[in-house]
Amino acid sequence: MLTYNEALTRILAQVTPLPAAETQLEEALGLILGEAIVSPIDLPPFANSSMDGFAVRASEVQSPPTTLPVAGDIPAGALSIPALRPGTTLRIMTGAPLPEGADAVVPVEETETQPSGSVTFLTAAISGDCIRPAGEDVAAGSVVLTAGTRLRPAGIGLCAAVGRSTVRVNPRPRVAIISTGDELVSPGQPLEQGQIYNSNAYSLAAQVKEAGGIVTHRLSARDTPESLREAFDQCAGADLLLTSGGVSVGDFDYVKAVFAERGTVDFWRVAIRPGKPLAFGHWGSTLFFGLPGNPVSSLVTFELFVRPALRRLLGHSDTSRPLISARLTEDAVHNPGRQSFLRAVATQTAGGTTVRPLSRQGSGMLGAAAEANALLIMPTDLSVLSAGTTADVLLLD
Ligand code: AMP
Ligand code: MG
Repeated sequence: MLTYNEALTRILAQVTPLPAAETQLEEALGLILGEAIVSPIDLPPFANSSMDGFAVRASEVQSPPTTLPVAGDIPAGALSIPALRPGTTLRIMTGAPLPEGADAVVPVEETETQPSGSVTFLTAAISGDCIRPAGEDVAAGSVVLTAGTRLRPAGIGLCAAVGRSTVRVNPRPRVAIISTGDELVSPGQPLEQGQIYNSNAYSLAAQVKEAGGIVTHRLSARDTPESLREAFDQCAGADLLLTSGGVSVGDFDYVKAVFAERGTVDFWRVAIRPGKPLAFGHWGSTLFFGLPGNPVSSLVTFELFVRPALRRLLGHSDTSRPLISARLTEDAVHNPGRQSFLRAVATQTAGGTTVRPLSRQGSGMLGAAAEANALLIMPTDLSVLSAGTTADVLLLD
């Protein structure tokens, strides 16, 4: 059986980023640029005022108080800008183009308007004051963002500021989710005898979204080969196909067999707890993960294997959650033989991060999993990690 590291390495070796595609800028937050963004323009594109005030020749406003007649107004966005005639001033707004002849702006706070309409400058003007020269931020022709950059809000704004409405980015992977199980009912419906609510469809969709993918299909299949075939075939062409349940050794676990009619199973089972029955394979260009049905197994195997694959498809170079070393506040125990990923709470303290394993560790116990913000990694061969010692911890938040 593959170990966690072996399985993850094997998966990532088979995943390459989706080819970059032209994407609307407003859809590109968090995505990775597949091109360098070169600005075709200076930023700002023209010299302009950084304050509401009065454009002047600084040499004319040297011994306060100085009074000058106001020859006109320049609002932001003004199309025709009068030149500044000697011996006058022009009222100017923040962002408005600097008129020809002016070399300073005096903020309105440093002036007094006279009943005649003239304006008195209370301080001396300094050439260049309150002026944003053309290109002071970005020069035309320069690279403002390099290929490989993850677009954050400021980067999105910068693309817009240089005039881009679309950018080339690695697109969001299209993910299909199939829940299997005759016992499953959608939340919102009444539960009959023997039925449970389909929680995996919801947690998986949330995990996909959080990792940057989009859920294109959400299907439920019964535990029959026919129903599974029908569901699989609707998902042809997805970038990623996730199934939950039906991948173990039960009599009605048909997922692997039905998948194998279409694609290739690369491996099945990993030496971890929870989540041993994980299956991974390919169907054309679709990556397939057959996740176990137990809600915590589904959550954890997504975290450990699907999320890194999704992030690789998105072009991220760091595919894993932060792996840190944390001090145990309580003993952590498990059955040795497989590497365990215990649901735990990690806390930042002045003395470093501490970690506390939660008590309800069953693979069906979603209640405790919902409390966890970390996975505490128990080494395969040790049954106890003692309080006060350190453990490897994957931070989920
Ligand atoms: P399976 O892997 O199909 O044998 O399912 C293992 C356990 O997980 C069983 O108790 C199932 O009822 C439960 N289970 C399977 N699928 C889901 C699901 N989508 N939501 C919640 N529980 C599930
Ligand atoms: Mg099942």
